[in-house]
Amino acid sequence: MTKVYDRIALIGLGLIASSMFWAARRGGLAGEVVGYARSEETRDTAREIGLCDRIEDTAAEAVRGADLVVLCVPVGAMGAVMAEIAPHLASGSTVSDVGSVKHHVIDAVGPQIPEGVHFVPAHPLAGTEHSGPRSGFAELFDNRWCLLVPGEDSDPDAVARLRALWEGLGSNVDVMDAEHHDLVLAVTSHAPHLIAYTMVGVADDLRRVTDSEVIKYSAAGFRDFTRIAASDPTMWRDVFLTNKEATLEILGRFTEELFALQRAIRTGDGDHLHDYFTRTRAIRRGIIEAGQDTDAPNFGRGTVTKDQP
Ligand code: NAP
Repeated sequence: MTKVYDRIALIGLGLIASSMFWAARRGGLAGEVVGYARSEETRDTAREIGLCDRIEDTAAEAVRGADLVVLCVPVGAMGAVMAEIAPHLASGSTVSDVGSVKHHVIDAVGPQIPEGVHFVPAHPLAGTEHSGPRSGFAELFDNRWCLLVPGEDSDPDAVARLRALWEGLGSNVDVMDAEHHDLVLAVTSHAPHLIAYTMVGVADDLRRVTDSEVIKYSAAGFRDFTRIAASDPTMWRDVFLTNKEATLEILGRFTEELFALQRAIRTGDGDHLHDYFTRTRAIRRGIIEAGQDTDAPNFGRGTVTKDQP
């Protein structure tokens, strides 16, 4: 048990914030964790299930006296939430976030950080398709990456302390710049989510034709798509609106490769297909060797699944 902060304030109480609370409690990482969410319903639920040591009815009250404030709301809401809390932040405290897109958050939040307050953006690469205050669990971040995205002028002690928190929450921590982060995540998470949404949308159209056979005979590949496509609509709308360029860049490449595969199928170019699938299989092996997934049947998935949004 190593305390890293005296008081952590979590603004927004969904999957990520609730998992942070349970993991912080498991590790004894904070003297106190204070929570706030905009809706009374979420605050009531949090109180009912014992989420956070204290729930406040305003964001201003929640951040008062906290030495770390973590913004755990959708990316598109970060700027407005920051405007609400800025006048109430303690001098010497650190503001961080968990947003899936970094450039946009830095632009929206950075200019509002008061003098004497540190800003260290972060992004835990862990999640599930579930959302809300009941969806969190202490193990969510175990052996997952958390990327810190400090600016050039970020205080090294504030960065080191946030790193210690995320390591205590179970993560492996790396530092990355915002541009690179947004491109890497467009490849590994944002474009795949869009493709899953599309595939499920196509199947839904088909379903009307085939009278529910798509659901009845749903096989593993499609079932995985449906799980990803069940992810929170607000969160993912914001991801695409705020990581526009990198996502469009990757989707452009995706479309070109898809056309090439389409041509190979039409012309019966088996060598092209075989070479392509051999290359992609090696990538899967690399992910397993890096400890980021398992070779177990059904990808080792039990009741809980973990993605990297
Ligand atoms: P979530 O479970 O949907 O919870 C979102 C929270 O934000 C709720 O407490 C909600 O309040 C609040 N909120 C929503 N819209 C808001 C607004 N316009 N203004 C103020 N508060 C608002 O979300 P989450 O999955 O924890 O995601 C939170 C952040 O983590 C997002 O930025 C997301 O990109 C990032 N992230 C998500 C994942 C993932 O897999 N889910 C993984 C890594 C990072 P109410 O409950 O009162 O409506």
